[in-house]
Amino acid sequence: MHFALLVILALVLGQPGQANRPQEEGFAAEVKEAELRRYVRELVAFGPRMGGTPSNEQSATYLTAFFRKHGLDVTLQEDPPALAHWESAWTVALEDGARIESAWPFGFSASLAGERTGRLLFVEDLGKAAPTAEWAGRVIYTPGQVGRAYTAIVKSGHLPAAILSSAPNDPTRYVDWSRLSSLPPSASNPVPAFSVSYVDGRTLASAAQAGRSVRVSLEATIREGRGKTVIATLRGQDPSGYYLVCAHGDSDSGGPGADDNASGVATVMEIARVYSTLVASGRIPRPKYSIRFAVWGAEYRSARTYIEREGANLAQLKGVLNFDETGTGAERDAIYFESNDVPWNETMLRTLEAVAGDYAGRPGFWTEYTTNPSQGGTDSYAFLPRQYKGTGQVTLQIPSTTIYTAAWDRLAELNQTPGWESKGTPDPAKLKIDYSLYYHSSGDTPENTTEREPQNMVRAVKVTGLALLRLLAQAR
Ligand SMILES: [Zn+2]
Repeated sequence: MHFALLVILALVLGQPGQANRPQEEGFAAEVKEAELRRYVRELVAFGPRMGGTPSNEQSATYLTAFFRKHGLDVTLQEDPPALAHWESAWTVALEDGARIESAWPFGFSASLAGERTGRLLFVEDLGKAAPTAEWAGRVIYTPGQVGRAYTAIVKSGHLPAAILSSAPNDPTRYVDWSRLSSLPPSASNPVPAFSVSYVDGRTLASAAQAGRSVRVSLEATIREGRGKTVIATLRGQDPSGYYLVCAHGDSDSGGPGADDNASGVATVMEIARVYSTLVASGRIPRPKYSIRFAVWGAEYRSARTYIEREGANLAQLKGVLNFDETGTGAERDAIYFESNDVPWNETMLRTLEAVAGDYAGRPGFWTEYTTNPSQGGTDSYAFLPRQYKGTGQVTLQIPSTTIYTAAWDRLAELNQTPGWESKGTPDPAKLKIDYSLYYHSSGDTPENTTEREPQNMVRAVKVTGLALLRLLAQAR
């Protein structure tokens, strides 16, 4: 009885979990940077891994084999059918043969039967221009967004051969690589669109002025598919409770998605490998509760399916540790723990922060760290109510955080939640949240992100693994 009271007291006071240094050192020593880098390269090699596509299927097979090899129980979850797209080959080239190397198809661009050639037409702002007969059969280049103008162009009946966009067309961002985009989900969009880099946008603008033509080709598939999620369980002593360690497995932009989010998947894989290896060899005890590792087939959608399927069993979920973009950073060298404005995240986030504080500055660990308020936009929010930027699907108070080293495509400044000012960051009241230069772009490759800064994934594995050891020791 008094044991249970202590646990409740610890939860109420938001006490971080107890540290067992030898176990923690043992965990940290087992984390392998080379493995993390390899997982990312192998995942990216499958393709964009979008839910319901062949590369999602391949990555699910790969993950199933991985988790089984490490002795975990694996189940597969399938989402309801949804329209999926994948692109297997494409060309965008000037008439003289010079390829526009940065070109990347918009999602839901339909296949072309053979090659199309059209004279370039420069349109500054598609949203403000009215399509005319002159547009038909041309290749439109715009430095602006395509967005809603696409539907208006299709309605006008003056169908261009293709649309090329260098949005955001900013000389300081997406210079050599393309910001990815999508057409409205449909299997019958009649005009393909491609993103190009800022530099290629300049080339196309002058080629348009010179009256030159561009040829395009595209092989794409658009059909219904079911997102596949892999769920692997490390059984706890008391399997009636569990922590969920997860990441979205798709590159939600349709690009290579090394940082977003093969890095997050690699983080989940390495925590699973290290934890199961140490439990199997008796170097750490079997955890009090189970740990469930999930790699979502499609961001948000698969978490939604999971929550629906769990139903009342969701009450067994003790906490969600989600990873999204643990592979890069542009201006800071920091690790972040999200959603400190959620009152029931107190114990989990104080534990992460305590681990971060205990190991900060040591070789192989991190220097800068902080918790931060909810920003929304990733799978931890599938488990939170709307008032904290969640989807509102779950009404239980389930602790849910995202751990990351970059978010979105520019530096964000956030006011810290009062009471959460961290010793681990230079300006604790006004947080600077790091971002990725390659966010949702054709440049989100291993070479540009995880191969350059593999230490980010190592840190995410260590801080989470050690926090889990403390949380699960506390639960005992
Ligand atoms: Zn993401």
